[in-house]
Amino acid sequence: MRDKHQIIEEPCEVKVSCTVLKTNGVGDNLVEFTTFLTCSDGSKIESPQFFKQSLNIIKKASRYHSRKLKGSAKRERARKNLVRRYEDIYNRRRDWFWKLAHELTNKFDVLCFETLNLRGMQRLWGRKVSDLAFGEFLQILEWVAKKKDKQLVFVDQWYPSTKTCSSCGYVLETLDLSIREWRCLSCESVNGRDENAARNICAVGASTVRLGDVRRANPAIAV
Ligand SMILES: [Zn+2]
Repeated sequence: MRDKHQIIEEPCEVKVSCTVLKTNGVGDNLVEFTTFLTCSDGSKIESPQFFKQSLNIIKKASRYHSRKLKGSAKRERARKNLVRRYEDIYNRRRDWFWKLAHELTNKFDVLCFETLNLRGMQRLWGRKVSDLAFGEFLQILEWVAKKKDKQLVFVDQWYPSTKTCSSCGYVLETLDLSIREWRCLSCESVNGRDENAARNICAVGASTVRLGDVRRANPAIAV
């Protein structure tokens, strides 16, 4: 068993990615996900965007494949080449996931996450969310955490982590996706959108596993 007091000093951390950055607003590139995780200490882990990096290579390999005569040996070679390109992205991404899972579990004893409706986000924003492959990362993290006797806590996605002030608990009625920073109407503290949400998820998650005080209106649902 771990010493509980040791854990309390650094209770937990990390909130799911989902930083929506406004790019130049050209065509369908209105939103871009680049932050993979926002931690409750305010630090961010950027996603290397493996698919995006290799998009031109994939496109080229795909074009080359489709130009070859069906049933020909050249087409088969082109198909194998295309498959290898996809495998390459997959492997590099998984490699990065493993490293990150070890890094996080070395640093923290309890890791809190918000369960997000990833499928719904994928429908809205397409490839960019699947590029983040958050579900795949969580599977790896769960495995590593289990091996190292660390704890993962999942906070229900309907908990208003973004709209709740992490300083005083005041809950906003609405908060538009484009707003990156807001001032609390009650205690006047300025909250960075993701950092504030990460602090709330950390507090709710910690109280769920009895490492912090329960002072939020909405407790976490799942452990
Ligand atoms: Zn406040």
